[in-house]
Amino acid sequence: MIYLDNNATTQVHPEVLDAMLPYLGEQCYNPSSGYRAGKRVKEVVEKAREQVAALIGADADEVYFTGCGTEANNSVLYAVARMAARSAEGKKGLRIVTSEIEHSSILRVCEDLETRGYIIEKVGVDAGGRLDLAAWKAAVEKPDVVLASVMWANNETGIIQPIAEACELAHAHGVVFHTDAIQAVGKAVVNVGDVAVDFLSLSGHKFHAPKGVGAFYKKGGLRFEPLLRGGGQEKGLRSGTENVASIVGLGKAAEIMHACLSNDEHAGVGELRDYLEQSLLSELDGVQVNGDLEHRTRNTSHISFQDCEAAGLLILLDEYGVACSAGSACMTGKQQPSHVQMAMGFSRQRANSSLRISLSIFTTREEVETAVQAIIKAVKKLRRVQGAGGVGPVVVYT
Ligand code: PLP
Repeated sequence: MIYLDNNATTQVHPEVLDAMLPYLGEQCYNPSSGYRAGKRVKEVVEKAREQVAALIGADADEVYFTGCGTEANNSVLYAVARMAARSAEGKKGLRIVTSEIEHSSILRVCEDLETRGYIIEKVGVDAGGRLDLAAWKAAVEKPDVVLASVMWANNETGIIQPIAEACELAHAHGVVFHTDAIQAVGKAVVNVGDVAVDFLSLSGHKFHAPKGVGAFYKKGGLRFEPLLRGGGQEKGLRSGTENVASIVGLGKAAEIMHACLSNDEHAGVGELRDYLEQSLLSELDGVQVNGDLEHRTRNTSHISFQDCEAAGLLILLDEYGVACSAGSACMTGKQQPSHVQMAMGFSRQRANSSLRISLSIFTTREEVETAVQAIIKAVKKLRRVQGAGGVGPVVVYT
């Protein structure tokens, strides 16, 4: 199968797997154990912390491991919201500013916080999928804003947000700033020295580490109220015995991606993505590449095929041996167009005829060439069946 759904998840890099294996086998010790074998395992966890810190330009003691990206996002939002409520002595109506295009691991937390008396303000994006900075400014300068959170890159479109500007505006009004950088870390340069965010979330399985491991960055000196309490691991900010093998894998993947980004090895991924888009644009009518083309992660193409329903396209492509997705994988099975495309002002029809094609450093030219032919065949077939001028009646967005 040709796998072009790397924003959903990525394959574990072979070097990452090699690095992990001993810690799934004989090196099974608990890093909290006092004997030497346990202490050695503790050392590899600390090495991984340094590798992750190096990838994002942080100090090692600013990185805290979690069980996934969702947990990193939840931890930061609940921590900041709860600490602010305590400082305000339970006052209701504290505000949290975010965007309309966030991942569900931000949006669902915001919905929960809303039921607890916080006011949630979701700022929109322009037609290119980038945050509306004027609306953002107006939102963060309101009284009682305690947290601003916006994603670094969007999971569906790959559009990179104006994080430096959003962070600066939040800070200008004394507002704590978090970014969900889960789709950016390992694919684009993300450096907390250059963009002085207070908190950042990342997830291993988006850049060739295993699933089920993530981390959050907390700027040194900031307070934090843990979501998980227990044995006091991660300096008390995230209790739970460390998932040593996955943490080692996360560290190794961070090291590999850091080297790739430093040597601009991702340029090749961008060239393949551009080749894919150019081929489809030249071979088919009614194709539109979506979003702000100047600000995208290099691996992602969000592309619409007029008169062609994405749900049907996905089924045909699967048959032809190509895996990609429509919208976000986390929305699979939901009968509604993506909230991201709605926020970008897409018509329902355009939203429902869009594919997300996402490459990785493992994607080859041959795979892209074969995928292009499969997409052309599938689009032509669907257009014949559905007939120009209308997509089918079923709206299944995955
Ligand atoms: N945030 C974004 C932007 C994502 O794309 C994802 C995963 O799809 C997550 C958060 C959740 O990360 P995880 O799957 O590690 O929980």
